[in-house]
Amino acid sequence: MQTTSNDLIITPLPAFEDNYIWCIEREQYDTFAVVDPGDAQVVIDQALKTQKTPSAILVTHHHADHTSGIAALVDHFGELPIYGPANSPYNGITHGVSEGASVDVLGRLFTIMEIPGHTLDHIAYHDDQQGLLFCGDTLFLAGCGRVFEGTPEQMHHSLSKIMALPAMTKAYPTHEYSLANLKFAITVEGDNEALQLTQEMCMQMRADNEVTLPTRLAQEAAINPFVRTHAKTVIASAEAYQNETLTSPSAVFTALRLWKNNF
Ligand SMILES: [Zn+2]
Repeated sequence: MQTTSNDLIITPLPAFEDNYIWCIEREQYDTFAVVDPGDAQVVIDQALKTQKTPSAILVTHHHADHTSGIAALVDHFGELPIYGPANSPYNGITHGVSEGASVDVLGRLFTIMEIPGHTLDHIAYHDDQQGLLFCGDTLFLAGCGRVFEGTPEQMHHSLSKIMALPAMTKAYPTHEYSLANLKFAITVEGDNEALQLTQEMCMQMRADNEVTLPTRLAQEAAINPFVRTHAKTVIASAEAYQNETLTSPSAVFTALRLWKNNF
């Protein structure tokens, strides 16, 4: 898709081992927004590089690798709105938001989706006009986040909510976990050709030191076992792992998540 001056420009800022802090710019604006700045320095570097300053911070959930740069950014740049889940245990949020609320980012509206499971406060930011979704640690390329605070049923429901968005939606997860996820996905569903092709492509991209994200929901529907809990091949593998008959998509999800945790 061609980027026009009307569109948001999204850049990954690598942080720590495998995090991405997504930077959102728009051509005619001299500010930018960042999603989940766990590290302040990479955002300060981006400000120097682009000659722009941050005008908003979007938080998807409270984990430290998503929030620990925020205080230093406020010290450096001054007060700015920090959007995040209204029910978050992280106390640096200035604008708490809940399901259905809208956030203005550089003149574009993002709608809040509550997607608990990885944490209870997890939210996503969705721009339905441009088809963009900042989904934090919930959906990854060919995988999903660990279920730390919610139940597997909650996580499965949250993933289903994401997958109900238009198939061409681009999803921007916050970690480069693609190769490890693809290795697991191939173990679950070895005969899936789309999956094999994606693995080849991502291996090449990582060998070239390229970012494998964003992904599209259409791609996830074809390759991601955690959102393919209705597929016969996925069900059969999950049942073999669990050594029992699994009678619901959420039971299949629960078995897959347990399997991946031990993989
Ligand atoms: Zn997390």
